[in-house]
Amino acid sequence: MNRRSIRKRRRSRRRNFARGLTVAAVCLVVFTVGMAAPREVSAKAPDMSARAMDTADIKDTHHLELVNGNNPVVGGGVDTRRLAAVGEGGVMLHEDALLAISRLFVAAEKAGIGSLYVLSGHRDESKQAQLYETAADKSFVQPPGHSEHHTGLAADILPVGVGMHEMDGTPEAVWLAENAWRYGLILRYAESKRDITKIAYEPWHFRYVGQPHAAYMHENGLCLEEYIEFLQDVGGYKAEFHGKSYTVLYERPKNGVIKVPESKDYTISGNNMGGYIVTAWERN
Ligand SMILES: [Zn+2]
Repeated sequence: MNRRSIRKRRRSRRRNFARGLTVAAVCLVVFTVGMAAPREVSAKAPDMSARAMDTADIKDTHHLELVNGNNPVVGGGVDTRRLAAVGEGGVMLHEDALLAISRLFVAAEKAGIGSLYVLSGHRDESKQAQLYETAADKSFVQPPGHSEHHTGLAADILPVGVGMHEMDGTPEAVWLAENAWRYGLILRYAESKRDITKIAYEPWHFRYVGQPHAAYMHENGLCLEEYIEFLQDVGGYKAEFHGKSYTVLYERPKNGVIKVPESKDYTISGNNMGGYIVTAWERN
């Protein structure tokens, strides 16, 4: 099977997943088996046979895009064709985030955690402007263009019947903080990272970044800003996670091209700062 047909198959598989939580529930069994913290093999740019790719040809997943006070979202954020509805309340999420959260919710239920729901997902800039202008406490709301919610990859997850500012310390908040990484999601604004994120602690705000990134960040106590900086500094790493051998590489385009692996499957995400993170894994 060539790469194009593999990609096509993956795209259609993702669409199907996003349409129904039932499918996600079935997959959960497979997904949680053997889940363990990543075993870091090396923390320097790994050598790999590579070929050049024009940045214009990159199919960007946007999974590791950094959107914060210094980095506004580019082009309005998410490709709206990738948005999918979360239940029937009008909340939309990027389909990759929705799939991860569906799995997270099934695991929460199994763990005896009360009902969780997504209060807020994707927001466009006009919705964000409205929120920002009317917010009494602006430490929890970003100005339009600077909210992760524009990416469709961020979700505010709350226990049913619990207000945002009552959530801290609840069993649901504790469980989410300890387990979300297993599903490729990170607690984005931890109290301990406030100096770096410049955002107040939000026990409800989770961001999809995928694997092995979520696992690596959790294991090493890094927020997204620190992780991107680590990748820029070190150039990449290798890790074993969930039975897969990953190679993560940081690429800064030279003359409009980056290097991509010659003999591995991979995805590419821009970091919204001019660089790209290539996530490659061994073909099975
Ligand atoms: Zn949020």
